[in-house]
Amino acid sequence: EDPILSVSDLSVGFEGFDGYADVVDGVDLSVGRGEVVTVVGETGCGKSVTTKAVTGLLDEPPANVSGTVAFEGTDLSTLSADERRALNGDRMGMVFQDPMSSLNPVFTVGEQLVDTLQFGGEGSAGVVEYLRRRYSRSDRADARERVLDMLREVQMPDPESVMDSYPSELSGGMCQRALVAQALLNEPDLLIADEPGTALDVTVHDQILALLSELIEDRDMSILMITHNLGVARQLSDRVYIMYGGRIVETGTTEEIFEDPKHPYTQGLIASIPQLSGGTMADGIDGSVPEYTDPPEGCRFHPRCPYADEACRTERPAFESFGDARGVECVRFASGDPGPEPTLGETK
Ligand code: SF4
Ligand code: MG
Repeated sequence: EDPILSVSDLSVGFEGFDGYADVVDGVDLSVGRGEVVTVVGETGCGKSVTTKAVTGLLDEPPANVSGTVAFEGTDLSTLSADERRALNGDRMGMVFQDPMSSLNPVFTVGEQLVDTLQFGGEGSAGVVEYLRRRYSRSDRADARERVLDMLREVQMPDPESVMDSYPSELSGGMCQRALVAQALLNEPDLLIADEPGTALDVTVHDQILALLSELIEDRDMSILMITHNLGVARQLSDRVYIMYGGRIVETGTTEEIFEDPKHPYTQGLIASIPQLSGGTMADGIDGSVPEYTDPPEGCRFHPRCPYADEACRTERPAFESFGDARGVECVRFASGDPGPEPTLGETK
């Protein structure tokens, strides 16, 4: 059986003022049916660009995209714009990190969600058909009932009055709930969530995550979740990809990643978070993510890696796959001999 989502050798680059930037560089990942998969990485590691490429929403500046994104085995680049819109509206739900800018300010929440329900999965429905249904009282009333049910399901406070409110009249948390409801209305097979709730304060963020984990339990939906928060990855996912400098540097089941991290970057991330919940990751590892226009030679992590040697500075390590779902991109593992156990937290 084909995975619901399969990304192979995805690269995305942009021509910028400072030269060409390889933001995503040969990413492979997949999401199985009913599987919850997270991509973890620091801000600037390429994870949002990866989701945009997957959802077909890359636009400005013009991106150079190569590689394949397949949905149930169908290469998405073979779809027409209309088929693509239909797929996005019907089978792929999306939640992005900034709830305020994701809702349209000029329509009420109810109007937007009812439209999504009525037209989300149809690409560009003909104008006549659109007008007929948009202004058919009974169709609209049915759709409104279903939207209300969904708002209740995402535990929206006072859903009736939210229906008639404009986004600017709602709190950030309520907007985020509205967007989760919108993403789920057409019962997608795959939900793509890019740092949902991160733009909100911590309490609201936690509530959104609790909601997501409930919704995940209740339905047989596949999820690709992007996060910089390891606690979130551990709490919600079946499988994890660790991304650094536009590359997947390690993957495994959630248990494997947290119990037996192999890549020095993953080890540093985990070591940097004593409680492994709620914390953000960047603090524990010195240095910052590389500049894409001038990435380090060899292993992109070498300037921050405590074990970097000459080979790391010149040769890009191969990504070694082993076991069912395991893989690491680091010379210490490519050789089959991980060497002595590293001392964490020290940088040469
Ligand atoms: Fe560190 Fe070298 Fe492994 Fe890169 S390849 S993570 S620099 S040991
Ligand atoms: Mg991002």
